[in-house]
Amino acid sequence: MSETIWQYQEGQDSQTIQLKGLIEEAEAVVVGIGAGMSAATGFTYVGSRFEQAFPEFIEKYGYYDMLQAFLSEFEDWREYWAFQSRFALLNYFDQPVGQAYLDLKEILKDKTYHIITTNADNAFYAADYEMDKVFRIQGEYGLWQCSAFCHQQTYQDEDLIRRMVLEQEDLKIPEELVPYCPECGAPLEVNKRDAVRGMVEDRDWHQQNNCYQSFLDKYQDQKLLYLEIGVGHTTPQFIRQPFQKWTATNPNALYVTMNQKPYRIPGEIKAQSVRINEDISDVLSGIVELL
Ligand SMILES: [Zn+2]
Repeated sequence: MSETIWQYQEGQDSQTIQLKGLIEEAEAVVVGIGAGMSAATGFTYVGSRFEQAFPEFIEKYGYYDMLQAFLSEFEDWREYWAFQSRFALLNYFDQPVGQAYLDLKEILKDKTYHIITTNADNAFYAADYEMDKVFRIQGEYGLWQCSAFCHQQTYQDEDLIRRMVLEQEDLKIPEELVPYCPECGAPLEVNKRDAVRGMVEDRDWHQQNNCYQSFLDKYQDQKLLYLEIGVGHTTPQFIRQPFQKWTATNPNALYVTMNQKPYRIPGEIKAQSVRINEDISDVLSGIVELL
């Protein structure tokens, strides 16, 4: 194996000092953020946060977490929006700022960086990131798309969401509040990707994608840090697999995974990899304290 060009790759210090050193050494950082980052800063999809927000839905359907509930089938569109409107307030319109997101922003503030996230919550907006550096590849909970996928545009109506929450009864919103596609008349649904149909990707989404691709093109041969934070097992194709593939093609790159679960790292990039398995929010706040 060739010798590393990364001074802090050998972890004799604490993981906090090690990660701080690696970020400082990098010429550019690509950050990939998954659900584990939001969970680490309090936006959990299981337990009391979920149970307090949706007791009647849990009683009716026996959901075990909020993502399962979000993706599940509902009786009709009135019930769908009764759930989704409450979900949208909790995880988007009324979502408070997360400390781990503030810490990461502080850590990156003087770096050349770009972010890709599979999270559709409001965490980056709430922490006041430069949103042209954040590619929301899986859409946003605050956006809607035509459920018939008739055209590639998204919609948003926060006032209507708030009315749905206030005016719902017995797990149904009033019929007249169900939103419909202005083009084809099909009901609107939350902007999200499903395995069969994909996702409505509007002009803004494509612009985000272009910015991300340009950044990767520009820095692909440099001393580039691929920093993966809290990426789980559900959609490895968006962050983990490309990060690992691109690391393999750039001998100057380093792949860092922050995760308490020990996901397998392919043999060909083992020498270019660092695993951080301490608590995400502790490590990030620890770095900020050292700045
Ligand atoms: Zn339509």
